[in-house]
Amino acid sequence: MAKVMIIGAGGVGGVVAHKCAQLPEVFTEIVLASRTESKCKAIAEQLSRPVTTAQVDADNVAETVALLQREKPDLVINVALPYQDLAIMDACLEAGVDYLDTANYEPPEEAKFEYKWQWAYQDKFANAGRMALLGSGFDPGVTNVYTAYLKKHYLDEIHYLDIIDCNAGDHGQPFATNFNPEINIREVTANGRFWQDGDWRETGPLEENRSFDFPAGIGPKQIYLMYHEELESITKHLPEIKRARFWMTFSDNYLKHLEVLGNIGMTSIEPVQFEGKEVVPLQFLKALLPDPASLGPLTKGKTCIGCIARGVKDGVEKTFYIYNICDHEECYAEVKSQAISYTTGVPAMIGAKMMLEKKWAASGVWNMEQLDPDPFMEDLNKYGLPWQVVEIDQPTGMED
Ligand code: NDP
Repeated sequence: MAKVMIIGAGGVGGVVAHKCAQLPEVFTEIVLASRTESKCKAIAEQLSRPVTTAQVDADNVAETVALLQREKPDLVINVALPYQDLAIMDACLEAGVDYLDTANYEPPEEAKFEYKWQWAYQDKFANAGRMALLGSGFDPGVTNVYTAYLKKHYLDEIHYLDIIDCNAGDHGQPFATNFNPEINIREVTANGRFWQDGDWRETGPLEENRSFDFPAGIGPKQIYLMYHEELESITKHLPEIKRARFWMTFSDNYLKHLEVLGNIGMTSIEPVQFEGKEVVPLQFLKALLPDPASLGPLTKGKTCIGCIARGVKDGVEKTFYIYNICDHEECYAEVKSQAISYTTGVPAMIGAKMMLEKKWAASGVWNMEQLDPDPFMEDLNKYGLPWQVVEIDQPTGMED
């Protein structure tokens, strides 16, 4: 018997609303709130049961507190943008509500993906007896849980970790991003960074790349080293890790467009003056690009996101690969979204379910790898993101 408030009605918010609506025994009541209420209403019309919709500007703490006090949810699922994280955490503390998100806080004026701002809320949440679960999407999210699961069941120590995110789907558009273009391009154009021997090493944006042969008929694809936020929390909580890297596939076409846009300054987050107005080029670009939600019916193919972990078990070196395969068209048939939103929205629902069922119950601020992976992994299999774990005894190209 629990009431949940979802904040954000974009691609991910739509999937979370569908998945929560499919489980009335857990999510008894649902409120869907966002800056533009018409988007909440459009999602509500697709659902199998009634939900309440509301308008809220989540940058405004007082407005969010007033909505929380009126609706009295047990938990907020924040799937607005990373810029809203701290304001929504403040509102949850003031109204006495638990909190969950899928992406770490980012200051709007700086493309920095760091947990320090949210970890600084540890004492506030602990003292208030409230729980905040950070990064309950796929990556971060499932990738953190995969790592914890391999550590719990397959390896005594993990020494080398590679998280590999492949989107082998095709939307047929000349250039589009699969989730919020502003967030996506900020992430991709940032320097690469990975953890090695107790320190961060930097590369230029997408400088380091190699080929990786994906399972399920996807085959070999070029993967690019990027910084991704789960590296920070995983290496903090599993200090035995000697090297941790994150890789993502990009098509040549995507990279060609991105290079040109970057060269002409369109991916910059520095404001420029245009006809007496201040314009942020990347925000203007976002206005021109297809809405990621519009790609749902167009996208075909699969995603494959997983972790390769090498370490020791009973003194013997072993390597395991754990991954999920998700099909864009199947996701669209189920929840009217492509697999990128689906693979984020399903873990957000499961994280919320863990908290409401008290399988994950602890006050303070938590990353996913700190909690027992088993009930979450069980639910991934039940609710649309089945996984496989295989032992690897041949070189994969990820050894060096
Ligand atoms: P969208 O841009 O599609 O949706 C964002 C939603 O948030 C929109 O409905 C938007 O409203 C709303 N919003 C923005 N600002 C505010 C505000 N001030 N107050 C209230 N609502 C607001 O993004 P996605 O759905 O693709 O992504 C949602 C989140 O998921 C992001 O934080 C993203 O980083 C994260 N993500 C995480 C992944 C993971 O695996 N962990 C992968 C993919 C995404 P409006 O319509 O008015 O603009």
